[in-house]
Amino acid sequence: MQIGFIGTGVMGAAIAKNLMAAGYALTVYNRTKSKTDELVANGATWAETPAAVAAKSDVVFTMVGFPADVEQVYFGDNGIFSKLQPGKAVIDMTTSQPKLAVKIAEYATKNGFHALDAPVSGGDIGAKNATLTIMVGGETATYQAMQPLFKVIGHQVNHFGAAGTGQHAKMANQIMIAGTMTGLTEMLLYTKAAGLDPQKVLTTLSSGGADNWSMDNYVPRILKGDYTPGFFARHFLKDLRIALSEADAMGLDLVATAQAKRLYEVMVDVKGLGDQGTQGLINSYK
Ligand code: NAP
Repeated sequence: MQIGFIGTGVMGAAIAKNLMAAGYALTVYNRTKSKTDELVANGATWAETPAAVAAKSDVVFTMVGFPADVEQVYFGDNGIFSKLQPGKAVIDMTTSQPKLAVKIAEYATKNGFHALDAPVSGGDIGAKNATLTIMVGGETATYQAMQPLFKVIGHQVNHFGAAGTGQHAKMANQIMIAGTMTGLTEMLLYTKAAGLDPQKVLTTLSSGGADNWSMDNYVPRILKGDYTPGFFARHFLKDLRIALSEADAMGLDLVATAQAKRLYEVMVDVKGLGDQGTQGLINSYK
């Protein structure tokens, strides 16, 4: 089976590496070519455009940044859909809009392709260790056919229903993460103001009811002054905007998530820290 992989950043490069380690032949493309160098050195083939990847592939994965990037790689000049062959499949792992997943799936169905939205959770560490949680929307038969690939890169794969439902599940995930990120940030500020040893507080909280993935993975980075991404703050702000827009369309007023979005707007738009990881939120309180 020939696999195409478009978008080899923090997440994509690690996922692609795991697919290659499992023996799949990969054709890769990324906007900045140098981010495919390591994959090519390990045997992947570079293609000049998303269309050139699609022409050679049975399944094309995409893991780009924003919905506008997804639009471009699927529908743009030299996009995937200009050269994909009938019967082939696309899997978008970017965290993106549910309505864009529906648009891709509808176009795919009309043209004899198969499409899944399959955003992930588990961070840079989950991508490297092949322990991602994968949230899938789209045709059941395609979901089942792609199981061997999902098993190589993740450990928890769930199908939620029609196209777009994978992205809705990811929005549920991001609403939860909004709480854990703001919680861990204010927990640390309080710990410091109260004169407590933050490492001791972390160890204590990790073994009690306050334990959570964000705290376990990001507080040690903050304590070392490490704000490298991980998960870019500008991407998390994108996710919170999508989630709140979807919630609004459903008549929901998610006040805590809206407050988290405002805090990340200060970090990203006001303080210009969008290229830090999400753990850098604490820097916008300074
Ligand atoms: P990233 O490092 O910025 O990777 C995205 C890659 O896509 C970049 O290498 C970028 O190229 C490439 N790209 C963007 N637009 C493109 C286009 N039009 N054509 C070709 N390549 C394009 O970000 P990431 O952390 O891997 O995240 C990717 C997606 O996964 C985001 O939607 C994010 O929200 C989501 N996500 C991230 C995490 C995490 O922990 N990092 C976890 C779950 C989900 P350039 O190198 O030129 O910028």
